[in-house]
Amino acid sequence: PQAGALILQVDSARKQFGGLVAVNNVSFDVRAGEIIGLIGPNGAGKSTTFNLVTGVLPVTSGEVRFCGESISGLASREIVKRGIARTFQHVHLVAGMSVLENVAIGGHLRSDFRPQGGIIASMLCLNRNEEAKLLHEAKRQLIRVGLGDRLHDDASSLALGQQRILEVARALCCDPSLLLLDEPAAGLRYQEKEALAGLLRKLRSEGMSILLVEHDMDFVMHLTDRLVVMEFGTKISEGTPQHVQNDPVVLEAYLGG
Ligand code: ADP
Ligand code: MG
Repeated sequence: PQAGALILQVDSARKQFGGLVAVNNVSFDVRAGEIIGLIGPNGAGKSTTFNLVTGVLPVTSGEVRFCGESISGLASREIVKRGIARTFQHVHLVAGMSVLENVAIGGHLRSDFRPQGGIIASMLCLNRNEEAKLLHEAKRQLIRVGLGDRLHDDASSLALGQQRILEVARALCCDPSLLLLDEPAAGLRYQEKEALAGLLRKLRSEGMSILLVEHDMDFVMHLTDRLVVMEFGTKISEGTPQHVQNDPVVLEAYLGG
């Protein structure tokens, strides 16, 4: 996509669980090459918004558009195929398998082909050619994220910050134009956060759009181009980190009441 083009449009998205309105007519956009942070107190509706974008949950009303086309109601698999990939809050690694194999498996599990049965079995079901293609792409993405020197190490030997970066490499194997990251900096040390931020800036410079939910304010303030702030299911503020930081409504949400 061209720089600045509209990638994601969340348009009056609403999600109701029985009588509880978890996301209340929320609208925001993500443009090509932007890093957007979604922040707000616990229970604000951030994860639910993520789930509406990735198709894990259907919207009650409103619409989500990706590159101008409605993706509301599409299955998660189909949404991944269109170019939205995500990482999860908790890292899913198979201990005893290499960094490379872990990324190859992740890419496989999130491709359109979704085999029944266990992870290892599904690996074995592939023919050599398919396996070689997966490994080639996994290696390419691991080099891209800076883990090229760890390909054959046991994945469980990676520090938490590197495991998070491995998860990003996995997501990149889906060839996304939008990356959704769920609390990527949680639990990381200062240097690890710096390394992760450096990687995300590099991806942005290559044209990637990134939407992240994050509690670490320091990380968010230094990394993002814009922030969307939610409270009780509603968007209460939006703008540059500088703007949001000084918005009395935001200060009230975090410090008040
Ligand atoms: P956040 O990620 O900002 O902490 P969530 O999106 O997880 O907030 O939750 C928003 C609100 O929706 C909360 O009140 C939560 O309890 C409720 N909620 C989330 N998922 C469900 C669900 N599957 N069923 C019922 N209520 C839910
Ligand atoms: Mg959450």
